[in-house]
Amino acid sequence: MTALVLGHKNPDTDSIVAALSAANLYRGRGIDVKPVAQGEPAPETAFVLKTFNLAAPEVVTSVAGQNVYLVDYSDLAQAPADFDKANLLGIIDHHKLGDVTSVAPVECYIQPVGCSNTVIKFLHDLYNVEIPKDLAGAMLCAILSDTVLFKSPTCTEADKKAAAELARIAGVEDMQKLGMDMFKAKSNLDGATPRELIFRDFKDFDMSGHKVGIGQLELTSLSMVTPELKAALKAELEVIKGEGRHSAILVLTDVMEEGSELLLSSDDPEVITKALNTTLSDKMWLPGVMSRKKQVVPFLEQAFKA
Ligand code: MG
Ligand code: MG
Ligand code: MG
Repeated sequence: MTALVLGHKNPDTDSIVAALSAANLYRGRGIDVKPVAQGEPAPETAFVLKTFNLAAPEVVTSVAGQNVYLVDYSDLAQAPADFDKANLLGIIDHHKLGDVTSVAPVECYIQPVGCSNTVIKFLHDLYNVEIPKDLAGAMLCAILSDTVLFKSPTCTEADKKAAAELARIAGVEDMQKLGMDMFKAKSNLDGATPRELIFRDFKDFDMSGHKVGIGQLELTSLSMVTPELKAALKAELEVIKGEGRHSAILVLTDVMEEGSELLLSSDDPEVITKALNTTLSDKMWLPGVMSRKKQVVPFLEQAFKA
């Protein structure tokens, strides 16, 4: 049976490209797999796939009865609803260990690096599997995206080394330019509803029994967010909170200024603002905050535990 290689809900570039690159790795080892995704590519990912002539993975919403490899997550909240009826074969990830489990031993490669594609590059070297030129370009973009051009505190030497090697395979001479072109594509706010913008890169977390949804929008400049758009995003966060969440948060990251503005709707806003070292106001600027995974989620989880 062909196994599925599946990234997380509201897929980002790393999760879509990781499905493609991990599929290349498994196939190179003689394992029959198919890359799939839990949604269509967002604008940044669409730019990456188009630049490197790659097709988007097929979208699946159900995995019952299937063999599955997970890439870029190991949380049930980010898996399809019927994941408990699937057979987990393996995980490649760079997040904190989640709550999926398995009936048989699982092949896991989880490393504290900036991007799943850094782990996947390492595994291609380990198993001696070749990376095609176009795929290498997309993997490079995934690293540039997840590490925000190597500026995120999640970025490690392993990410920089993998990126340099992938750039060489892909024939990319100017990584910074490729990265900026990609973030410009990501910063395109035209034609998207506030809801679409919030859900472009959105994750739900179970924090001590509280459902907390956190979206992140990385822009080349926050000046693109007009006061009208900001008001509309805040109003939509109210709606999203009302859909069974304790809190709905949007982290508006300014890639060039290297910090984020916090928008939130919460049953207890103070627990959020306190955890993130700010106070409730019209403009909550979090200097230096680039990473949801490292600079937002752990502090909130800690606050909800208390
Ligand atoms: Mg991801
Ligand atoms: Mg990732
Ligand atoms: Mg990200």
